Amino acid sequence: MEVDDQQISKIKKVFLILSGKGGVGKSSVTTQLAFALYEKGYKVGVLDVDLCGPSIPKMFNLENGVINQSESGWIPVYYDNEKRLGVISIGFLLNSKSDAVIWRGPKKNSMIKKFMTDVVWGDLDYLLIDTPPGTSDEHLAVMENIRSINYSDYSAVLVTTPQNLSVNDVRREITFCHKVGIPITGIIENMSGFTCPNCKDCTYLFTRQGGKILAEKSNCTFLGAIPIDPNLTRCIENGLDFLTTLKDSPCYSNIKEITDKI
Ligand code: ADP
Repeated sequence: MEVDDQQISKIKKVFLILSGKGGVGKSSVTTQLAFALYEKGYKVGVLDVDLCGPSIPKMFNLENGVINQSESGWIPVYYDNEKRLGVISIGFLLNSKSDAVIWRGPKKNSMIKKFMTDVVWGDLDYLLIDTPPGTSDEHLAVMENIRSINYSDYSAVLVTTPQNLSVNDVRREITFCHKVGIPITGIIENMSGFTCPNCKDCTYLFTRQGGKILAEKSNCTFLGAIPIDPNLTRCIENGLDFLTTLKDSPCYSNIKEITDKI
């Protein structure tokens, strides 16, 4: 299918969600940002380009979702009947959860190109692109397509945990962003401390404020810190409804504040 300018110009803002390491909470942050923007009334798309480890369908509790083909292209899997929160992931195209995608660069590139040009999102306020950790074929493919499609408003949101090991890898992501010319909206520090539900004391299980310090040193905006929240894990593990389970939870409240800044 040819890239349809009209279709593409309907996406107002694109965020690439990046992290240096896996397991720092990039996909959960993407999911929470999507829900927070959706709750604000926006129309949101989530594109999962983590081809080898797609966790977005599980996060949205849409594991049985199917991508349908229309004359104009692929129809996202929707969370809601109103079709304001849509998701595209390779996870929807695999036969089983244990299927492995073992592809070299060119095959990954062509799948990402399809994801970025053949999906019928309709009008979108935000497209959140969840990427694999690091800087790999997938990131380059996304950037090439963003440029050829000519999205006017795109930028990166970096996710790290507070520890040096994660922060150091995010430094590499910052260098990547500078090299490929993607503006950085800011850094989110995930898993920063655990507040005891009884005594309300906050325990910093890892180093303190690594993400904040990195943001200051690298001249990036610090978007906020998200605590470790057992409700989030419980919600994802047990396939509970996100909006009801996390309604008053500390991590989601902080994410909602972050959406005021992006
Ligand atoms: P990544 O996308 O960076 O690989 P995920 O978003 O898949 O990381 O998160 C890894 C695991 O950590 C998931 O089981 C998720 O539920 C958990 N997790 C992430 N952020 C938090 C948090 N703030 N509080 C509690 N658990 C979290």
